[in-house]
Amino acid sequence: MSIIAITGTPGVGKTTIVKSLSDANFTIISVKDLAKQYGCEGDFDEATQSMDIDIHRLAEQFETDALGDTIVDGHLSHLLDVDAIIILRCNPTLLKERLAKRGYSEQKITANVEWEMIAGTWSEIIEFELDQPILELDTTNCEPEELCEVITHWINDGYSQQSTHARIDWLAE
Ligand code: ADP
Repeated sequence: MSIIAITGTPGVGKTTIVKSLSDANFTIISVKDLAKQYGCEGDFDEATQSMDIDIHRLAEQFETDALGDTIVDGHLSHLLDVDAIIILRCNPTLLKERLAKRGYSEQKITANVEWEMIAGTWSEIIEFELDQPILELDTTNCEPEELCEVITHWINDGYSQQSTHARIDWLAE
C-alpha cells in the first residue's frame, strides 16, 4: 500500500493527470475532500477565493491504515504523511495563461506565477526536511498520457529515480 502526493502550484496539471492515473488502480483523493472529511477546513479566504485548510492538523489526523494505493491531489499534499511525492512544474508564462482562463484575479495569478517561478513547493519540501522519494516533472510540453506513463513506471520501479532539489529553474531560462 502506498500513499503518494501529487503537488505543485495550482494550474500545473495535477488534477488532469490524476484523472488518468485513476485507471491505473489508484484511488484518488483531493486534499480539499480530505479536509472536509476530517473537519480541517477553515474560513473562506476572500483574497484567494478559496477555503483555508489546516494542513498540519489534517496531517496529524489523516488515517492511512485502511487505504489501498492512493494518490492525494493538491498543492499542499506534500505536507501530509505520504510515502512519495510527485511535484509538477509548469513554465510560468503558460501557467499564467492557464490561471487567467480559470478566471482567477490578477492578484491570485501573480501570487501563483511567482510561487512557481521561485519553486515555492520545493522551498517547503526543503524547509520541512521532507525525505520521501521525489519525482519532479515538467508538464509544459508534455501530454498528460505521457506524464502518466512516467509516473506509473516510477512507482512500479520502486521510486528509483529521485530528486533532492529543484532541477527546473525558471529564473535561469
Ligand atoms: P491543477 O490541478 O494543478 O490545478 P489542472 O489539472 O486543473 O491543474 O490543469 C490546469 C489547466 O491546464 C487545465 O485547463 C488543463 O486542461 C491544462 N493542462 C493540464 N495538464 C496539461 C498538459 N500536460 N498538457 C496540456 N494542458 C494541460
